[in-house]
Amino acid sequence: MSRTVETPGRETTGVGCAPLRDGAPESLNFIDGEWRPSETGRTFASVNPADTRDVVGRFQQSSAADVAAAIRAATTAYPAWRRMPAPKRGEIMYRFGALLAEHKERLARAMTREMGKVIAEARGDVQEGIDIAYLMAGEGRRLFGETVPSELPSKWAMSVREPMGAAGIITPWNFPIAIPCWKMMPALVAGNTVVFKPASDTPHCATLLVELMAEAGFPAGTVNLVTGGGDEVGTAIVESPDVPVISFTGNGETGRRIAGLAAKRLKRVALELGGKNAIVVMDDADLDLAVEGILWSAFGTTGQRCTAASRLVVQRGVLESLLERLERGAAGLRLGDGLDAHTDVGPLINAAAMEKVGRYVEIGRGEGEVVVGGVPATDRPGLGHGHFFAPTILRDVMPLARVAQEEIFGPVLSVISVDTYEDAAMVVNSTRYGLSSSIFTSDTNTAFRAMHDFETGIVYVNAGTIGAETHLPFGGTKETGSGHREAGHAALDTFTEWKSIYVDYSGRLQRAQIDNQPR
Ligand code: NDP
Repeated sequence: MSRTVETPGRETTGVGCAPLRDGAPESLNFIDGEWRPSETGRTFASVNPADTRDVVGRFQQSSAADVAAAIRAATTAYPAWRRMPAPKRGEIMYRFGALLAEHKERLARAMTREMGKVIAEARGDVQEGIDIAYLMAGEGRRLFGETVPSELPSKWAMSVREPMGAAGIITPWNFPIAIPCWKMMPALVAGNTVVFKPASDTPHCATLLVELMAEAGFPAGTVNLVTGGGDEVGTAIVESPDVPVISFTGNGETGRRIAGLAAKRLKRVALELGGKNAIVVMDDADLDLAVEGILWSAFGTTGQRCTAASRLVVQRGVLESLLERLERGAAGLRLGDGLDAHTDVGPLINAAAMEKVGRYVEIGRGEGEVVVGGVPATDRPGLGHGHFFAPTILRDVMPLARVAQEEIFGPVLSVISVDTYEDAAMVVNSTRYGLSSSIFTSDTNTAFRAMHDFETGIVYVNAGTIGAETHLPFGGTKETGSGHREAGHAALDTFTEWKSIYVDYSGRLQRAQIDNQPR
């Protein structure tokens, strides 16, 4: 919340976006098919992390009353939306996917400006939204259940998916188009309506997304957007008895709080939380390929991906040569505004992230040795008004050191050396997280052992820890989540109830487990 700035009062009251005196447009909530101001009369600003003098816009600092209005709208729209045949819901989603594709460049540029990731990655973020929209549009013609033989004659047995109602969608800033789409598309195609609360660091991306959803033809009330703080807006969604399912992505502490509140109402909660992902490099690896994969995984999105590699586990035979190449590679990465085509690494999201990364690097100096980076980069030309931190590598870190165990969520890579594959697998599995892992090796047997041994939801062979595709399940083990998965068919499990249906057409009472059994 450090980037939000309260303003004393609304300076315009137009519908949609209206320019303010300082030039930044004000955006409204989207409730029941209308763009509406918050009842609080307060707004907050979203700023560009590459240059904090650049105010992207002002957004509604909403209250529990605004959330209640959004939930009322979602609940009212639900019966008609769930009755609409799923293929028709899919057609609306298909239109939305096409609109996302049409507006891809505009959205990507807005994303880079609002949260800093370099433009090529921002395009990838929007593409993930397009991919999941098309995948879930197709689900409108599938939504498979099961038809199975009954144990009794003249009896039909099948299961179908049913929607649940108004779904609460609470999202982080690091994938501001992809993650909301990964949640809202499966929720909507299954027949749920949604109340969407985006991160306070990326309300502009959320607003652009919902504008396109409205244009695609989602009926009034099926999609509702409420901006504002997690404590007020997020908590009101989680506590509402009229929201039976919450899908949340964010940090572990927030996830725990949400799970605790939701448990009191026995509501379903899908949590996608932190990671401490490891890349293993064996002595027989292709080192050129490994270096590329490591730099991309550790420093892409400035290390602010849940799947970012923050641990590098290296077999001792290649340690020095790998480190030497990595040091050179990391030192050569160009920091800057992500809209500049020459930039490799953008800024961190906000001042709190700068403070956190700096604090962990200081801890790391006592737990290992800084071989490159380790300092803010705000003294470099052109970076003085942004949240820039130099890509950092720490070597000789022990597996249980804090920097090797705790999520830093920044451009910091801890290098741990090992003697054998068995040691490497043990190190990979030695954290409380379990999202993504990878191994670079030219030995097929070792690769297959790793696929089996690494206790993570995603395993890569001869690639970095990032690059998930939308048609396979996405999520992690242990404290990375609550056991749910996003994307793929698995995403539908979060937002549907299974209903088993039996039709007896024998014309007589047939007692299951009794009439067809030997006495
Ligand atoms: P936060 O948990 O701080 O915020 C996530 C969302 O929760 C925001 O919308 C935030 O609102 C909201 N929120 C904050 N407090 C509450 C509350 N008490 N009740 C309800 N909602 C609340 O996470 P970050 O935005 O910092 O995201 C980074 C984290 O997300 C990292 O830990 C990362 O690993 C994880 N992540 C996990 C992924 C996965 O798939 N496993 C994918 C991407 C990220 P506000 O912004 O207003 O505070």
